[in-house]
Parts: sequence; structure tokens; C-alpha cells
Amino acid sequence: MATRRKGASKPQSESPLGTYRSKRNAAKTPEPMGDGPRARRRKDLPVFVIQEHHARALHWDFRLEHEGVLVSWALPKGVPEDPKSNHLAVHTEDHPLDYGSFEGDIPAGEYGGGQVRIWDHGHFEVEKWRPDEVMVVLHGSKVSGRYVLFPTSGKNWMIHRMDPAPEGFQPLPEKVRPMLATPGTLPADDTGWAFEIKWDGVRAISFIEGGRIRMLSRNDKDLTPSFPEFRELGAFLGARPCVLDGEIVVLGEDGVPDFGRLQHRLHLANANDVKRQSAASPASYVVFDVLHLDGHPLMSLTYDERRVHLEELGLSGASFATADSFRDVRGVDILQATKETGLEGVIAKRRDSAYAEGKRSTAWIKVKNVRTQEVVIGGWTDGAGSRAGSMGALLLGIPTAGGLRYVGKVGTGFGDRDRDDLMDLLRPAARTTTPFIPPSDVKERGPHFVNPLLVGEVRFSEWTEAGRLRHPTWRGLRSDKSPADVVIES
Ligand code: MN
Repeated sequence: MATRRKGASKPQSESPLGTYRSKRNAAKTPEPMGDGPRARRRKDLPVFVIQEHHARALHWDFRLEHEGVLVSWALPKGVPEDPKSNHLAVHTEDHPLDYGSFEGDIPAGEYGGGQVRIWDHGHFEVEKWRPDEVMVVLHGSKVSGRYVLFPTSGKNWMIHRMDPAPEGFQPLPEKVRPMLATPGTLPADDTGWAFEIKWDGVRAISFIEGGRIRMLSRNDKDLTPSFPEFRELGAFLGARPCVLDGEIVVLGEDGVPDFGRLQHRLHLANANDVKRQSAASPASYVVFDVLHLDGHPLMSLTYDERRVHLEELGLSGASFATADSFRDVRGVDILQATKETGLEGVIAKRRDSAYAEGKRSTAWIKVKNVRTQEVVIGGWTDGAGSRAGSMGALLLGIPTAGGLRYVGKVGTGFGDRDRDDLMDLLRPAARTTTPFIPPSDVKERGPHFVNPLLVGEVRFSEWTEAGRLRHPTWRGLRSDKSPADVVIES
């Protein structure tokens, strides 16, 4: 065995293409074997190619022409645009020069099975080529600039951008606070407004980079592990780093979002349950906005301008879709259509409005067919009869500056498991003193009080003059919201 520099695999192999051919069966893969006529020797600059490879794990193969072969690295997150973030580059076997124009499908079961397409290609200048340092200046259509590759351990190298980030480049933000809609009625004049269906689910901002997706709820809960089905959205967008805004929904038997089923998806304790439920109650991500794309923030653009970028992404897959935007139509017609199909309502959005991060804005108005209200659970009453030993009703409040204001109790609308599941959450939060102000407001017999931390949602018919919910029905927990988010919804 040849002696190697400790900790580094050389960026060229001793017997050109031997390893490459030993990994592939020419009868089964459409990839070039490099045994045809020798590629014409170029007099101009050597070539590079970056191939997006949808193998078991999505990656980008980065190949540089050197001494008659393509010296290759696999980049799990692609080529960095930001000099502050180095990306892993796993040194792989040399490939034949004619691999540089290869695009196609490597059959499943073969080495590297999956789709290969050229993401970028061009020429490059060599500034240094040593066993432990390769410095090049790329001239591609997507990537240009000076890059250096250097080994860190074994086959693992890093790729670092030495030039400043491209003009105007901004890295993906870590967090984005969603823009919120103001509850209200349809605009008096439809001019200048777009209408979207209000999806009854959980708001989620997703951060996609290097083919990977990360999703955060309104209160910064990481939703990614709960919804493995959305990984395909990361792979779908490939090397287009972006931040998307949308709603996660689970459809019921009637094709209408079922908040209860979605709620169960949010409270699964282990990966096996998550896997089983993602098959039994698959979720969909309805994307209605794009806030950052290809290294550029878009929040200051107008709604119409952001829609152009969103539609250009062509989001359409088994688990994700672009939300419809109805323009040059009457808002009342859209609202009526949602009422007839059992949907929650519409959101009217001003077409000339920017994305107001973290603000409840009047540029977005939510108009609902049913009245719902978020509430904070402050206690429970004992169940009677068949419910003895469990919960009878939940005591509900709305946070105010002075404390939790009691707004009534809800004793209906619970699913089979809901009462037991709620008791499991409430018992450990029990306390002896009332969280409500004034304390005398709770007239129930033998109430149990809890620390007011859990947020839920009820349907109801109207507010009474005394400030109580009339005919409330339980809809489910809102673990994506914090008590501080709860406000009277008009
Ligand atoms: Mn590959």
C-alpha cells in the first residue's frame, strides 16, 4: 500500500479510474466508463462541473479536471456562497472526463442510485494544486470566485470561499417571526387585495438550505422531527436556499383540514409513533409566501412581487403545494365558496404590502366563517357519571395586564382520548391557588387549578355581556402558541 500523508487522502489517485470502474457495472448504469476515445486535450482552461445527485442522501458532486480525470468531492450541502460558512467536501474517486456532461438516472440498487443533473459547469484557473490544498478560481454561471479545498481528516475535506460573498448576498436568517393577520371583515373595496383560503392548521416557517429543511412554529418550536414527510420539500428545492411561510394541515376524510388530527401529530413522543402517524395521517404544507431566496431577503418586496418568486419555485409535491392566490375576483365570492366547502375562512392581503415580520398587520385581514378563540387553561372540574375520575370541563381564561381573566368553561367537543391526554398534562401542573382574577369569578364546585401555561382553542357562538364564551366547543390544544400570544379575536 502506498504511503499517504497522514490524515489526508490525496486529491488524485495512483491508477486513474481504477476505483471508479471497480464501483460500477457498465451493463447496469448509464454513466460513462471513460473507456471511449480519449477526451480532446483542451488548450484553454480546465473544466469543472457540479452535479446535483439525488442519491439516498442528496449531495452535490464537485469535480475538477486534473491530469486527464475529474478529481471529485461530494458536498452534502453544496458549494458555500458565504465565506463565513465552510462546507464539508468528502473526497471521492476520480471520474472520467466525459462524466462532466453526464446527466441521467442511475438505477436503484446500483452505486449512487438516483437522479444526476448538472447544477453548474464552467472553466477554472488553478492557483495551487497540492496533495493537501487545492485552490481554484471558478468561472461558472451560478458559482464564480476563489475557493480552497483542504483535508481535515481522512476523506473529509472542507471547501471554503475565499472571495467575499456575492454582491448583496445575505445568509439565511436563523429565525423569522411570522407576519400575523388582523381579525376583521372583508375589505369594502376589493381593488388592490388578493384573497387566500385560510387553512386551519399550524403556522410554520421553513428554512431550506443545501437540500435540508428545518421548520419552526410561531413560538420557535422545532417542528422538523414531527413531520418527516416534509423532507422531500428540502430535496425538491435542492440548492435554492430559501425561507418559506405556510400552514401545516392534516386533511380529514371529507378533504377539509382536521385540526384534531393535526394536533395528535404534534404530541407524539417517539420516532416510531411519528413514522406510523405520518403514514396514517399525512400532513401537507401549504406555502403562501417566500421571505428569502438564493441569498437575498424578499420581505421588503410587495405581496405581488413575492408571489412571482413563489410561483416560479413551482412547489408541488406529495406533501406540499403553493397556496392559491385569488386576484381580480370578489372577496365575498371566495368567502362564500369557503363557507360552502366547510373551510375556515379567507385571508385578504394587500397586494402592495411588504412582509411585516412579527407584526399583526392590517395589510392582512382574516375573515372567518366560524368564531374561534384561543384560551389559556387555568383549571378543570371533576367529571361525573361515566367520566368520574376524569375531567368534566376545562376552566378557561384570557391573559390581561392584571392576570388571567376567567371567560368560562368548556365541557364538550372532546375526542375519545382528549380527556385522558389533557389530564396527563394538567395533573403535573396543578396548584392550590386560583390563577384567575378576580378569584371569585370561578363559581364551579371543587375546581382544580393549574399553572396557566397550556393554550387551547374553542369554537363559540358569541361573547356574553359578562364577557363569557357562549356555547364553547373544544377544538384542541395549541402547542404552537404561548399564553402571551392569546388575544381576544374581535
Ligand atoms: Mn454522487
